[in-house]
Amino acid sequence: MIAKRVQDAIERSSWIRKMFEDGARLKGELGAENVFDFSLGNPNLPPPDKFYEVLANIATERIPGIHGYMPNAGFPHVRKAVAGRVAREQKSPVTADNILMTVGAGGGLNAVFRTLLEAGDEILVPAPFFVEYVFYADNHYAVLKTAPTTPEFDLDLDALEREINPKTRIVLINTPNNPTGRVYDIDTLSALGELLTKKSKEYGHIIYLVSDEPYRAIAYDVEVPPVFPTYTASIICYSFSKDLSMAGERIGYIAINPAFEGRDLLAGAMTLSIRVLGFVNAPAIAQRLVAELMDETVDVDYYRANRDLLYDGLIAAGYECRKPEGAFYLFPKSPIEDDVAFCRELQKENILAVPGSGFRGPGHFRLAYCCSHDTVKRSLPGFKRAIERVTG
Ligand code: PLP
Repeated sequence: MIAKRVQDAIERSSWIRKMFEDGARLKGELGAENVFDFSLGNPNLPPPDKFYEVLANIATERIPGIHGYMPNAGFPHVRKAVAGRVAREQKSPVTADNILMTVGAGGGLNAVFRTLLEAGDEILVPAPFFVEYVFYADNHYAVLKTAPTTPEFDLDLDALEREINPKTRIVLINTPNNPTGRVYDIDTLSALGELLTKKSKEYGHIIYLVSDEPYRAIAYDVEVPPVFPTYTASIICYSFSKDLSMAGERIGYIAINPAFEGRDLLAGAMTLSIRVLGFVNAPAIAQRLVAELMDETVDVDYYRANRDLLYDGLIAAGYECRKPEGAFYLFPKSPIEDDVAFCRELQKENILAVPGSGFRGPGHFRLAYCCSHDTVKRSLPGFKRAIERVTG
């Protein structure tokens, strides 16, 4: 009745459904306030005040055509505003021509994949990673391959080099990372750029670097380094879902490296992909909204406080965990090998966590701390009891 690939996808993602069902059941039984839900990367903070002001203004404007179709790449003034910010961040002369407005990072990645991949081409991703990539690759009949990261979740360039082969078309990185919170430093990115230059030459075709960066604005103590100066055939997918807490409004962009010779061809082709994938264009109101919010973010210090509280609490309880530099995730080691079994132990304490296996990072679990300080504080005794139970 339905396509086999979709049937397979449903089966492969059944663990996510089960997790939601278990969480919803627990909340129904105990009341939502008594469940410590660290399972979802759905920001708890409200958007900045200016979001509401700009939105209210947009709602009153009666300019002909502003709710109609527009160029598939987005409103020209919005692309220009985004380009200004990306140019500063990337220390590159990015212009509006290098920017395409998208339906979130998810929509952006699909447009990139649709544009670059032939059936059977490979996307190489350092693991662990955001598991939706598997489905996005499959949408375009591409194959997702993985290479392990170091024990500190940094890029392992030797491991990546071993996996790159003539079918590799895209190396996909995500910094700050979901699920590990790792931010790759400039030396690592430069070394990756050198590797991709070497391999592109060796195979006689371009291997693109796609950097998925929805958490760029959520970083602690470090600046997220630019990727454009490190490799010319590079593309960024960004989203305002997290930095402005507007995931439901579905707005992001693709930025193409202005130093890449094929940038205009790529921009034209991606514009077509946005159209024929059925997005047509990114939502009009959301585009005009973010154009006025280029200097705004949610209160990142709120997430920093959660990170510190949760990290310190876990370490004090005996967990092993790397302190992340960005995003709003912790990826501690499971105290027992079976991370799924350990998440069940946490559930007995009304704590919802996601097994690392779901991100191809077995032996760990992911905690999304985009929740209230109170949730973090009140969860800590449960984390302590759970580790004590399993380590005897
Ligand atoms: N990439 C990563 C690493 C994410 O964590 C997410 C969302 O959680 C996305 C992409 C998709 O973001 P968007 O809501 O912009 O489609």
